[in-house]
Amino acid sequence: MARFNLFVLFLVRLLPPQVGTQPRRLYCRAVILVKCHLAGAFSWRIDLIPLIDSALIFVRYIGANETSFSQFAMNRKAVPDAIQASILLKSRRRCCLCFWLSGEDDVKKGQLAHLDGDNQNAAEENLTFLCLDHHDEYDSIPRLSKGLREREVKQWRDELYKEMEYRFRKQRRHAAELSFMRFVRSYDSKEYGYYCAQFRLTNVGEVEIRSPTVSLNLPTNMMAEPSWDPKLRTAVVSTAQQSSDLFEAYGRIATVTPVPLLLRDHTTTFFGLSLHFGSRYDGANVELSYRVDGEGMAPVSGIVPLQLAQQESDLVALRYLEAEGLARFER
Ligand SMILES: [Zn+2]
Repeated sequence: MARFNLFVLFLVRLLPPQVGTQPRRLYCRAVILVKCHLAGAFSWRIDLIPLIDSALIFVRYIGANETSFSQFAMNRKAVPDAIQASILLKSRRRCCLCFWLSGEDDVKKGQLAHLDGDNQNAAEENLTFLCLDHHDEYDSIPRLSKGLREREVKQWRDELYKEMEYRFRKQRRHAAELSFMRFVRSYDSKEYGYYCAQFRLTNVGEVEIRSPTVSLNLPTNMMAEPSWDPKLRTAVVSTAQQSSDLFEAYGRIATVTPVPLLLRDHTTTFFGLSLHFGSRYDGANVELSYRVDGEGMAPVSGIVPLQLAQQESDLVALRYLEAEGLARFER
């Protein structure tokens, strides 16, 4: 019988470490129960050594692991439904260790793990969704060496949340509005009757717009000369760059990309159109249709109404713009 017990012990020792802690624990307990029974029923002395041996195994496997031991000792504190739901949603039922360490990007069967090993601590910060294997592995780490591992797992968990949030982010609405601000003289000298319009582009959508491009549909004989100096980060107003106009099949279009990125709720201003006193548009009400395009967004279009200047007092002098640091002028 002693030989049989030794054989059983041998088998227990052969259990590879990756066998989950739960079955191994149960197995150890069963072995000890059998041993106690055998020791009582047959020869106590012969069985004494294997009994101590198996008790030591029990202590090593279970006692050293306070987490598992405390699971025996007390009931887990139930994790509130709202927290469970929140974690399952944020992780999309992906195990953060499988995801980042093995590149496994699929939904897993798993459980909520208490990272600090305290099953009473049901704070969301202390919980993460792990697959069954990783949960077992995590719980079998002795508490002393858990600190580092805990920080590591938290890091992977937080990275996973960010990744999932990014991946499953809602398609958010892009929207932009173009409005007219004021007319500005293109030249200081009143010998020249040129002026231009200052526009404001506002991001009224739910997400930033990358490379916003504004296209204005121009009436005949209206020129558009906005340009952007990326070095100076100012608008350059000039009437000498008509070749930069774009012509399209259904009318004249002027385009400008005022900024590389327009954040949500932010605005940017730019200069456009090249107008002249004495043209047939003096004082006219014009409705300019526009379109705003950007990376990864459906175009947004609208109409910006203008009443063109009729007299000198309708214009803002250049020196105001320069004083505001809004523009540099080529003369
Ligand atoms: Zn896993």
